[in-house]
Amino acid sequence: MNQEFYKNLIGEIPSRVTLIAVSKTKPESDILTLYELGQRHFGENWAQELRQKHEDLPKDICWHFIGHLQTNKIKYIIPYVHLIHSIDSFHLLEEVNRQAEKCGRVVPCLLQFHIATEETKFGFSLEECFQMIENQEFKKLQNIELRGVMGMSSVTDDQSQIRREFAQLRTYYDELKQNFFSHQDSFKEISMGMSGDYPIAIEEGSTMIRVGSAIFGARDYGKG
Ligand SMILES: *Cc1c(COP(=O)(O)O)cnc(C)c1O
Repeated sequence: MNQEFYKNLIGEIPSRVTLIAVSKTKPESDILTLYELGQRHFGENWAQELRQKHEDLPKDICWHFIGHLQTNKIKYIIPYVHLIHSIDSFHLLEEVNRQAEKCGRVVPCLLQFHIATEETKFGFSLEECFQMIENQEFKKLQNIELRGVMGMSSVTDDQSQIRREFAQLRTYYDELKQNFFSHQDSFKEISMGMSGDYPIAIEEGSTMIRVGSAIFGARDYGKG
């Protein structure tokens, strides 16, 4: 774990940007170390891992779910999750809504967009997203609140490509804001930027960076 990197990062990012420390696969002791330094926003990719950590760790931690969410695991995180970044289908949003209703919560969510060239990454296209929001079925969902967008850039050394992809996500955000959310102040988040590309993401308008390995060190091969 690189505490010096963390302290410098906290010092250098603009105040509009929230740092989410991505602690997936990392032990609770590492999370507590950052917690003692004042960090409250943590990101996880697996529902069961998140549930365990939530149970064991201080209750004022804001847990962000950033991984691909399976519908049968939603129930593990709904009672306390702070923000779900990875909504990539209407079906998933409906399921989140259903579980949130059972808990009597309104759960904040981001829409994940496919901005990378890799086929394997998840996410909406802008067209799919417009279709979803314009559909009557969408308007029935009372227990979710959309707060913005999320995306992951391609794995590449080409900095200009990464910049183009983040700029693309920014335009998706602007389109949605303008067309559907201009009267909703809470629709304001652009979650983009990881260990390798967060400086570019911040330059392109990110409001939330999700940084894991640069803070906690490399993860074990095969999980994450
Ligand atoms: C793992 C992960 C991160 C953090 O990645 P690092 O390169 O370790 O900073 C950010 N976002 C998502 C969606 C992830 O799965």
